[in-house]
Parts: sequence; C-alpha cells; structure tokens
Amino acid sequence: MKILVINCGSSSLKYQLIDMDNESVLAKGICERIGIEGSNLTHKPTGKDKYVVEAPMKDHQVAIQLVLDALVDETHGVIASTSEIGAVGHRVLHGGIKYSDSIVVNEDVKKVIRECFDLGPLHNPANLTGIEACEAAMPGVPQVAVFDTAFGMAMAEKAYLYAIPYEYYEKYSIRRYGFHGTSHNFVSHEAIKTLGLDPENAKVIVAHLGNGASISASIGGKCIDTSMGLTPLEGLIMGTRSGDVDPTVIQFIANHENKSVDEVLNILNKESGLLGISGVSSDFRDVMSAAAEGNNRAQIANDAFDYRVAKYIGAYVAAMNGVDAIVFTAGVGENDGIVRGEICEYLTYLGIEIDPEANKVRGEEKVISTPDSKVTVLVLPTNEELFIARETLGLVK
Ligand code: AMP
Repeated sequence: MKILVINCGSSSLKYQLIDMDNESVLAKGICERIGIEGSNLTHKPTGKDKYVVEAPMKDHQVAIQLVLDALVDETHGVIASTSEIGAVGHRVLHGGIKYSDSIVVNEDVKKVIRECFDLGPLHNPANLTGIEACEAAMPGVPQVAVFDTAFGMAMAEKAYLYAIPYEYYEKYSIRRYGFHGTSHNFVSHEAIKTLGLDPENAKVIVAHLGNGASISASIGGKCIDTSMGLTPLEGLIMGTRSGDVDPTVIQFIANHENKSVDEVLNILNKESGLLGISGVSSDFRDVMSAAAEGNNRAQIANDAFDYRVAKYIGAYVAAMNGVDAIVFTAGVGENDGIVRGEICEYLTYLGIEIDPEANKVRGEEKVISTPDSKVTVLVLPTNEELFIARETLGLVK
C-alpha cells in the first residue's frame, strides 16, 4: 500500500509518499508560504529532478490539490492516479489526555483535535486543516492521526504531574505531555531491534538534539519520562527555546521590561536558547564556528547545551535505575561528533567509553561506544515520516 504522510504547519505542508511494500520513499516535498504571497511547492520525486511550482495557495486545500497534481504529473509524478494512495497519515501535535495511540480520524477525533487548540495553538489548527483538506480532496481514503504527544502518555503520574494544585490538572489537563513523540517512539524501538536488546525490559535514553531538542527515558519502548512538558518549552536548551527556567523569571522580565506574560513567553520560545546565550544564531553549526573563532558567549551556549543534556541523562539513569543504551538522533545528534563526545565525557562514571573513530559518523546508524563500554551509545537517524506511515498502515490494513 502507498501511504501519503502529511505534516502541516500554519503556513507550510510537508509530505512524503511511501510505498509500504518496501518502505521506500517515492516522493517528498514541501509547500511553503501557504496563505501568504509568493507560495510555492518543491516536489522531489525519487530518482527524478526536483520540480518547483510557483502558484498561489490561499489555503491548505489548494496546497493539497497541488501536491496530488504533482504526484500524478506525467513528467514529475510517481503514481498514475491518486486512487493508488491507500491512506493518509497526519502528524498531529496534541492529542490531550484522550489519545495515547494513533487513531483513524472520524468526527470525534476531529473534535478532540479542536479541543486541544489551546494546548497547541500554532500546530493543532493547521493539523486539522490538513486533515479536512485531504478528506475533501480524497473522499473515502482513510485518514489517520499520529499524535506527537502519544508517546509521553505512558508516563506515570509521578512523572507527568506538576506539583501545583491538583484541581488545575482536573480542570484543564495541565500536565507534562512531552513532544517529538513520533521520533522518540521510532528511535527507541529501532535501537532495541538494532542492538538486540530485551524488547520488554530494555532501558533506553533517546537524545533528540535538533533545532528543537528533547530527551526521553523508556523501558521496553514505553516512556518513563521525557523532557518537554505542557508545551515544547520545557527541558533542554534548544535553538531558540530556553528549556527549563524558574517561572519567576517570567514575572521578573515582565515587570522590569514592561511586557505581558505572552510577550515574555514569546521571548523564551523564540529569542532564547542557543540564540539567546550566544547572540550569534540558533543554528548549532553557526554557534560552533563562532566558538571556534573565540566568541566566548558562543562557547558558553555550547557548554550549557551539553551540560543540560548530561544532567538529564543522569536524572533519567536514576529514574530507570540503570540504562542499556543511549541514542543520539536529529540534526545535531546525528551529525555532530564533537557535541556527542562532550556530552559523553560527563558520563564516564557510568562506564561509558566512546570510540573516537566511530564517533566521526554523520547521518547514519552506528554504535559509537567501545566494545568495553558498560552502556552502548548509538547514533540512529530518526524517521518520523516512516513511523507515521507504519502507524497508518497498522490501523488501515
Ligand atoms: P533538526 O531540527 O533536526 O533539523 O536539526 C537542526 C540542527 O542540526 C541545527 O542546529 C543544525 O546546525 C544542526 N546540524 C545539522 N547538520 C549538522 C552537521 N552536519 N553538523 C552539526 N550540526 C548540524
């Protein structure tokens, strides 16, 4: 079966068409500037040239139609007819407390996605728009919602509750949810398979280090803890997000800079993290090269990033009373051996030994610890689209 994977942002739509007979990507692409002047579609059919369409896209429905047109295009297409698409899998940011698994979309599911607009104000409305656009363009084709929060729903109360009056959990479902769930789920299960670990009891820590960064602890692929919270702001230092801060910082900045809470949260989401400390960039490569040229704040940003990851790993080893494997994934985790090495230097107390030669790996699966290392350290590229396609296939076949 061929499955179309859709990831809608507020003004973008990423897609992949995957042939699940051999899990190969037939085509992928992105629509950008949806609803804004200058919208365009970049379509990359596997084995053929890139195809760019500059066309007005007033909404996601127009964008979906352009994607379908590109997929069946005589020259640039990869299928003869859209009837070859057996199902559509949608990345949905927030499923609230209702969904701990992927689900075939019906009216009730759409209602829950809508009820979670408050919890995912930037993504959930776009995700729902994408689902409705696909329903309109491909009537009768099953749509599946794969929630980014589903993985974190396995956490126990002691891990997911904030220590605030319980009534706020009861009234508003304020709790820690965790995000990047599709990535943590995919990578933890792949690591168990690749390393031949016990599928029921393997203790795995996944460090998803990209522009957004989060870390998870899981036993047998079930989430014990994960660093993002009610929103993706909590946890590690990220490209532009602060990660953990004392909430009083918000009040202090608001009072002293005459800003609203929303404005300060915007600063914590968009002007903090690597960018905030370094003043250079949110991009790790830029920060690293500035540090190499002697920029002290860039070096501090890099050090603070490593330190925070190492602290979380220590906490998660305690939470699980041990760890069998630590896995690095996403842009930085998959590519940056220096950062991986610096983080692992904090972990020699666990008997971790990194093989410097193996640690040069970029963007491919590789064990980077030595055979004597007490804990296996692995680089494993994430593949959220494939995870969404597998979930979709599992529900519709
Ligand atoms: P992601 O959000 O997973 O796409 O990751 C983006 C981050 O990964 C950015 O901070 C990039 O600087 C970083 N990144 C991507 N490729 C590399 C690389 N080859 N070496 C170091 N960092 C990289």
